[in-house]
Amino acid sequence: MQPPFEFDPMVCFPVGKSRPLPTGYASPDLVDLEAAVIPIQKPERLRAIVLPDLVGLLAAAREHAHDFALISAYRSEEYQRDLFARYIQRELADGAPDEHEAAERANRCSANPGHSEHQLGTTIDLSVAALDFRLSPDLGDLPEGQWLATDAWRFGFLHSYPAGSESRTGYTFEPWHLRWLGRELAAHIHADGFMRDGVWNEMQPTLEELLDSSTNDGSWFDEPDRA
Ligand SMILES: [Zn+2]
Repeated sequence: MQPPFEFDPMVCFPVGKSRPLPTGYASPDLVDLEAAVIPIQKPERLRAIVLPDLVGLLAAAREHAHDFALISAYRSEEYQRDLFARYIQRELADGAPDEHEAAERANRCSANPGHSEHQLGTTIDLSVAALDFRLSPDLGDLPEGQWLATDAWRFGFLHSYPAGSESRTGYTFEPWHLRWLGRELAAHIHADGFMRDGVWNEMQPTLEELLDSSTNDGSWFDEPDRA
């Protein structure tokens, strides 16, 4: 069973440390985000197909007095290359003995160019004023982060790097990092037990594993009423 024909397969393309994006992939329909619509701190772009659900997510969050700012959205391969290089320099400054070790350490929280979900144009990082708009694992302990964990799927967003998944994703817990899959697919994955009772279960498959076409039989699309 294939996804609905209008579904863009890149939306559910598995991206990870061992799975790069297709060489030279460029996101279509990137749009500049307007600060009047989406709280941003610097110019950001995102695929247009994500915008309605992002606006919905942020509006629903505000109803619970959760005011998020968008910290990062689309990142080009070149931008990711510069970013990763800066992380390596930071690790060297923090005591990594050599460049190889610095790259290993940097790669626990930052992707190699060509391996970042941000390059899809459908992935966002969020933070809040209480964290000085830093990307911090502390978000997971705040009401805002807990609300994201339980409710973001309703707007088509899921965490890619939940707590307890580092051994499989290779990334530490990133409560701020959400990938948009569309409401239908996100609801199916959510219903499949990706998350139980609002708590990430480390025995559940990670998003990367769920999206891996070699293990995904497409059954989410066979049971439209399941969610
Ligand atoms: Zn991110």
